[in-house]
Amino acid sequence: MNRDPYSILGVSEGAGQDEIKKAYRKLAKKNHPDANPGDRSAEERFKEIQEAYDIVGDPGKRAKFDAAKKGGGAYFGEEGMPGGDFEGGFGGLGDILSGIFGGGFGGRARQTQPSVNISVPFATAARGGSVEAELDLPVDCPVCGGIGGTGRETCASCGGSGRVTSGHGLFSTTHPCQGCGGRGFTLSKRCASCGGSGRAGTHDRVAVSVPAGVEDGSVLRISTTGGTVQAMIRVVPDRFLRREGRDIHCDVRITAAQAALGTRVMIRTLDGKVRLKVPEGTQPGTVIRIRGRGAVQRGVQGDQLVHVIVGIPTGLSPEEKALWEQLKSTGR
Ligand SMILES: [Zn+2]
Ligand SMILES: [Zn+2]
Repeated sequence: MNRDPYSILGVSEGAGQDEIKKAYRKLAKKNHPDANPGDRSAEERFKEIQEAYDIVGDPGKRAKFDAAKKGGGAYFGEEGMPGGDFEGGFGGLGDILSGIFGGGFGGRARQTQPSVNISVPFATAARGGSVEAELDLPVDCPVCGGIGGTGRETCASCGGSGRVTSGHGLFSTTHPCQGCGGRGFTLSKRCASCGGSGRAGTHDRVAVSVPAGVEDGSVLRISTTGGTVQAMIRVVPDRFLRREGRDIHCDVRITAAQAALGTRVMIRTLDGKVRLKVPEGTQPGTVIRIRGRGAVQRGVQGDQLVHVIVGIPTGLSPEEKALWEQLKSTGR
């Protein structure tokens, strides 16, 4: 799984963008699901190629990836990013790496726990879109702007460094200044709104953009005015539809007579209801594929798979019994 995007695309690390694009096109064409119907391994390769190109096909992401790679192998491990500096310095690189090294939209490469759950409707998760989410975030106090008060003056105890040293020579220790709490300044008037903390709890309503094909349990990083939060996606189950990757599954129940003679049924899809032809002689457990009605993942649209369930009647009336007896007598 942990393969290098360059080796996936079969190019050298010094390859130009044109060369990468060419290699990608060639491989994508060869492994495209339409060119290899039913071939799972081609589909996997196709996905891998897409993911690799997502990174090195974009000069900005590629530069970040190259920088991370030079930084050492630690970024490829199970534990993900070592420490906060990396996150801060490179921003969204966790997303890029987790995307290609198996974490889906997040999760694996994260060390921090998601702080909020975001509920996403089934169809929005499948096709992408936007949801409104209510987030509780500690933000800068609106009254003092995060400072904690007014009348700011350089701390007399530490001279503004925020640290004081006690003891001498070998035995000296440095610790945060108690006079200013390590901030290096004091305030003559404490903010009444936040009590001097500079923080305020807030209820923020944000529009979260949901990538198409997002899975239940994925972690998204959301930037708001109050900071960045890790949000866990909870996909709301649909009453009729189930999703497996980019394919949507559903069941349809027909009678034994309909299965034998063929019928038409209405099927619920992400795009509304469609009429589906069930051919004559359909066996129980048959799966009928409706192309292009699935979810979208990494730019590829899945299908809807309709599982046919054939119901055998119970509690027959005398008339019905007579009809089934007739069928029975034919031996079919
Ligand atoms: Zn305040
Ligand atoms: Zn001080």
